Amino acid sequence: MKFNTKTIHGGQEDIDPGYNSVMSPIYQTSTYAQSSPGKHKGFEYSRSANPTRTALEKSLASIENGKFGLAFGSGLAAIDAVIKTLKPGDEVISTNDLYGGSYRLFTRIFKDFGIKFHFIGLDNTENIEAHINDNTKMIWAETPTNPMMNIVDIQSLSKVSKKHNLILCVDNTFATPYLQQPLDLGADIVMHSATKYLGGHSDVVLGSLVVNDKVLAEKLYFIQNASGAIAGPMDSFLVLRGIKTLHLRMQRHSENGRSVAEFLQQHPKVEQVYWPGLPTHPNHNIAKKQMKDFGGMVSFTTKGNSYKDAIKFVENIKVFTLAESLGGVESLAGHPASMTHSSIPKDERKKIGVVDSLIRLSVGIEDQQDLIEDLEQALRS
Ligand SMILES: *Cc1c(COP(=O)(O)O)cnc(C)c1O
Repeated sequence: MKFNTKTIHGGQEDIDPGYNSVMSPIYQTSTYAQSSPGKHKGFEYSRSANPTRTALEKSLASIENGKFGLAFGSGLAAIDAVIKTLKPGDEVISTNDLYGGSYRLFTRIFKDFGIKFHFIGLDNTENIEAHINDNTKMIWAETPTNPMMNIVDIQSLSKVSKKHNLILCVDNTFATPYLQQPLDLGADIVMHSATKYLGGHSDVVLGSLVVNDKVLAEKLYFIQNASGAIAGPMDSFLVLRGIKTLHLRMQRHSENGRSVAEFLQQHPKVEQVYWPGLPTHPNHNIAKKQMKDFGGMVSFTTKGNSYKDAIKFVENIKVFTLAESLGGVESLAGHPASMTHSSIPKDERKKIGVVDSLIRLSVGIEDQQDLIEDLEQALRS
């Protein structure tokens, strides 16, 4: 199957042996009748497995070209499960413009469990190797990064990772498997906040992991069941439904993303536009190599770098909604310095480019002209 068929049919055989329903039923049940102790149809208790969640997990594995999928109650619950494969003393190398919630989980929870994190630029192999020692077990990468849209070369990261026997995890939330498939590029684990593009309609919070290695999969399934941060059947159904139109939505997100990025780039009040599809983007060539298109996430700064002007802009937009999150059909705008990235200290923020005037747009799939006119009027004011 090609990708655009997998989104609809991938892993969806025999989802309802009872009535052959075409869509996966929502199995809203915690438990399953057994005819004799241990004799059942593969499901015992819904923390361990639930048929709706299993249907989603198979769909996730299919669209990421992986063998094993796992669905969690949120993206952070999925990340939490991955870090729980480590032991006190272990070290992780991660990017210095990481999603704020991942940064908080690493530094405020797992640091106290004796796991050490290095937040560095992942674009330089020598720099990565300078931070690797006998305790290093994992590389945690995000590409494109949030909110600066930096691109990391997954293939070259995987070379370093394999050379030093590390687990390479890629947070693929921004790109989605429509644009980029990290397992094919050598990653060991691909993670999603399915809350964003996979769900696609801003109506659910859910996280996922996909892996190819059986031993790693078993470790993660064990943690999923033992720690219990699973996705519920209703939420699994919503993400399954979202995935069916992922290819259509991502195509339109990318087209609208291009229009918005090109509009902003020529606007006299705009200082800098961050969108990996622009030839002026510093990592444009890597993006072109590993991504099919460039998506709908666009960040920009305004001339003068005024905090007040940025707040005014997000207050004045009308078609765009001022809100956290991203990846839904509707366009959203955010101010990272005061919203998603407020948990990162100001000096750290500045170092990575999250300046006071930075605005992050999640460009939706509305009419292009309406979106551009809205940005135009908000910039004017
Ligand atoms: C939202 C997000 C997360 C966290 O996912 P939740 O579903 O909110 O827990 C992780 N990584 C990235 C890149 C995100 O955008």
